[in-house]
Amino acid sequence: MSAALAAVLGQSDAAEIVLPRRWPLGEELTEWKTQRTCRTDAEVATARRNVRETEWGRRELRGELARSRRWLEMSDEALWGLVLPTTIPRRHYVNQLHGCPVHGTAIKKRDHFHPWRIDPVGHPWKVQCPVGKEWYPSNDFANGETTGGDFPDDGFAYVRDDGEHFYFLAEYSERVHLRWVRPAVTSLARSYLLTGDRRYARKAAIMLYRIAEEYGHMSHVIDDRARCDCGYPRVLPRTPLKRVTGNGWVGFFTDRIWENDNTVVCAQAYDDIFDALGEDDPELLAFVQAQRQRADTGPQRAIFAHLSRFPVPRTMAEFRQSIETNMLRVMAQGVLDRAISGNDGMHQNAMITLALVMGTPQARELVDWCYTGPGQMQFHLPNYFFRDGSAFESLGGYNSIHIRGLNAVVGKMERLRALLPDVFPPAKYPRITDQLRHRLLYDFPTRLVLAGSYSPMVGDTGRPADTRRRDPIGVGSDLKPRDYDSAFRLYGDPRYAQVLASARGGLPRPDLF
Ligand SMILES: [Zn+2]
Repeated sequence: MSAALAAVLGQSDAAEIVLPRRWPLGEELTEWKTQRTCRTDAEVATARRNVRETEWGRRELRGELARSRRWLEMSDEALWGLVLPTTIPRRHYVNQLHGCPVHGTAIKKRDHFHPWRIDPVGHPWKVQCPVGKEWYPSNDFANGETTGGDFPDDGFAYVRDDGEHFYFLAEYSERVHLRWVRPAVTSLARSYLLTGDRRYARKAAIMLYRIAEEYGHMSHVIDDRARCDCGYPRVLPRTPLKRVTGNGWVGFFTDRIWENDNTVVCAQAYDDIFDALGEDDPELLAFVQAQRQRADTGPQRAIFAHLSRFPVPRTMAEFRQSIETNMLRVMAQGVLDRAISGNDGMHQNAMITLALVMGTPQARELVDWCYTGPGQMQFHLPNYFFRDGSAFESLGGYNSIHIRGLNAVVGKMERLRALLPDVFPPAKYPRITDQLRHRLLYDFPTRLVLAGSYSPMVGDTGRPADTRRRDPIGVGSDLKPRDYDSAFRLYGDPRYAQVLASARGGLPRPDLF
């Protein structure tokens, strides 16, 4: 690689890496988000009417509010505290091969992958063995202890005498984010969008601001990104950091694949609550200020020292800008760097979601990456799908990732076009659904039904079919009947209506919007 090219890519040598990793690299943005962009006012009004006036809408709302109740009932401080400092690594597994230091692999009897239990409110910074019910690590990490007892973990694993590592706190950190933080942000933001009740928006805002601080940190300190090697023991020591891609320094809160979901969830949630962030909220700003003081002076101040880089916002405009600068822009650079990169369709969806949520003309650069750049969405149908409409990666659930990813891009492109018609004319950004092959993506899964009841079990596609239960199905495991709602609206094909009607328990749930 030439020195000039290396400088442009910023990845030949540690000394040359452009930091922070924040799109656009080395520049400050002057464009800020000015309005909600993922849903129109008319759609929000429709959804709020549906949840008021229709029985099915009321049922949907009850479900959503039931999901967000536990988060609404938690204190602001507790929610803030769920977003853990990324100075502590995240990993998938405590120790996948040796299980518990006392009970070994007996802990895997009930759950092979994640047998450890967590209770972030009652037992912060601890994991519980499901066999002996004992808690690890033995030190009181929540109160700043990094040593103590027989099984201490300072964040970088308890190391047994034989050299075996047990990553109690690292798996705890990842699980709290995936199982607590992500669902909390999702349901709080959606509950606000459906009700207009600002209590939900406030709670979601607190979490998003705190999440943004950590993404901001990881844009400066690449070494604090997820060190997830799928949790299996490393054979060789990690080579020194030389580039921003690969090398294990990928992902952010979690690994590079699941980070796509974090991106979509957090960006979407920010958009959902955007209306509520427009008015002055001195209480919210005072809360953030107080939390920073607590972090600076509390027992865990050593693992929060990285936050001093980020000034506490004094106005709601600064509050919003912090989220956009530290979260949205860092995520966008993460996709460009392939630090966020999943199964095909995931990172393109992540990128266009960021562009749509930013909603500014400059975000066109991100759309270009998704459409005609490395994301290649404009050419996906001919280049990434076979002639019969099947995707290249296996069958079953993995195929659905490609189809849904592509269709998410299709939908978001049209929203961007409606928002900024001069920036995204069809002549330059053609509609993907105008390509004849698009409907084959829906046809293919309907042809993959065996004996009217089964999906073929090929590749990494799930467990073998239960031949004792023979239910007629209209679509193979590549898609679900509910996916045919948009197919039927697009093409009006009666076969797609038949698939919709084949759903277990009746027609799939309608879209509230
Ligand atoms: Zn145990």
